[in-house]
Amino acid sequence: MSETATSTTTPTRKPKWLRVKLPTGENYKHVRSLVDQYKLHTICESGHCPNMGECWGEGTATFMILGNICTRSCGFCNVATGRPLPVDWDEPDRVGRSIKLMKVKHAVLTSVDRDDLPDGGSILWAETIKAVRRISPGTTMETLIPDFRGNESQLDRILEAAPEVISHNMETVRRLTRQVRIQAQYDRSLAVLKYLKDNGAHRTKTGIMLGLGETVDEVRESLYELREARVDVVTLGQYLQPTPKHLPVQHFVEPEVFQQLEVEAKALGFIHVESGPLVRSSYHAEKHIL
Ligand code: SF4
Repeated sequence: MSETATSTTTPTRKPKWLRVKLPTGENYKHVRSLVDQYKLHTICESGHCPNMGECWGEGTATFMILGNICTRSCGFCNVATGRPLPVDWDEPDRVGRSIKLMKVKHAVLTSVDRDDLPDGGSILWAETIKAVRRISPGTTMETLIPDFRGNESQLDRILEAAPEVISHNMETVRRLTRQVRIQAQYDRSLAVLKYLKDNGAHRTKTGIMLGLGETVDEVRESLYELREARVDVVTLGQYLQPTPKHLPVQHFVEPEVFQQLEVEAKALGFIHVESGPLVRSSYHAEKHIL
């Protein structure tokens, strides 16, 4: 395997391993109609996720709470940046009811960043987890949370609501964090993951995108640091540029490189590793509670 995954030219065509079928099928249509009916936001759509057909076809979806306008402007992300709308306190019940209607066994919840709110959105986060527990008691949850700017009392609200998995994405390696997530900090995200695990999180999880110009050794270094923070689950997937305005893909990482990194990550002690070109942070999320 090459030690550097970086190439100097921006590739223009997707390799064949990244081509996916368009979503179809009855379950997909059912989930689509519920998402529209309940005016829900899904990261599956705004993130142009390549696995949307597979996940929705199986009756599962990742819900984005706290609106669809983010206070941050990460260079890879297709969610709109701006001044978000006021918090909608009916949202927790709506999410809970649709999860029940969809008969979702394992729900993934995520949110935009709400740096405009004094509580960072943590109260609505906790209310949503409780609403899902109350309305759909058989459903387990993964919560893909923001960094809450490292605020421990806000993180405590998530810990007290006790979702089965708490994830927070690093998104990229240390050197590229400033370029990829301008308002975030690599060490702060690492500290958030460590705090969650040290304070009772059952499972912690993170995701890194490849293809933004990182070297394989930089990915290895991040994996090592994540295990030092006792992170349980890691996902590694290919970055895809959502629109020409977003950060360009620097290189398409070959499936063999993903396989090699999976072997190495497992050897470091991660309980679950999802590593492949089409892997996204919610991919196979239902397996990560065990
Ligand atoms: S904080 Fe999250 S939702 Fe907001 S721009 Fe960054 S990746 Fe997108």
